[in-house]
Amino acid sequence: MESSDKILKKIMKKPKVNNQNLSAAESVLANENAVCSICGDRGIILQGDTAIPCSCMEQRKLFNSFKYARLSRELIGCRFDSFDLDYYNSGSLDQEHSLKAQKALKAAQDFCRNVLNNPHEIGLLFSGSVGSGKTFLAAAIANVLIEQQTKLLFLVVPDLLDELRATYDSKSETSEYDLLDIARTIPVLILDDLGAHNYTDWTRNRLYTILNYRTNEQLPTIITTNLSFDEIETYLGERTCSRLLQMCRIFRLSTEKDIRRQKYDKREKLS
Ligand SMILES: [Zn+2]
Repeated sequence: MESSDKILKKIMKKPKVNNQNLSAAESVLANENAVCSICGDRGIILQGDTAIPCSCMEQRKLFNSFKYARLSRELIGCRFDSFDLDYYNSGSLDQEHSLKAQKALKAAQDFCRNVLNNPHEIGLLFSGSVGSGKTFLAAAIANVLIEQQTKLLFLVVPDLLDELRATYDSKSETSEYDLLDIARTIPVLILDDLGAHNYTDWTRNRLYTILNYRTNEQLPTIITTNLSFDEIETYLGERTCSRLLQMCRIFRLSTEKDIRRQKYDKREKLS
């Protein structure tokens, strides 16, 4: 069996396919609606008298994994080898931003490597302002792990809160339970944008039950937030805050200027 180190090296430096600068996953999504030219979407081909699975089935499985994980199309392009440290160098004299970004990147890569061997690896919390690359790192982790067939769920917290509220309003206990149950028990959970949202006692409590269960079962959680710990305590309460400290290593990301803004400026300069 290949060591997880070797596997990870391969994934992090994923060869581009079809000369279109697409990762395997992006290529799967790009061909989402195309009919398989080998099996005509039957999923099997005949070899003599025997039916064997068509090669497109692997692609389909990967596609379904991405769908299951709820990773948005935009985030499927986030890969460690395109995490650009240049965005952290501008305007900073002491390289403070860049050093923090390097540490966070290394922690994210180490997490992927370690969790393949140890499903109880400690989680990560990336904090930083809007446009500091937190979600990019969380998505890069998701991409690596999904391709390694780790069951993972990527939940954007405001969307999660909407879903929880909707199930509360409709009183459909079962669907609320399903989503919570999956979030509690999935091997790797990513909670993106744990921010200053409109929490009610009820949603706050639901979030706590997810994090509490995962801490007790030592299931890794990756969290991104633009809140400080004092603010987390204000919005989510002391017990949730203390769970987060228990279950995650913390990394801060900062830039002189919002990375989205830097990308925009760069694009404008070129056009
Ligand atoms: Zn096929």
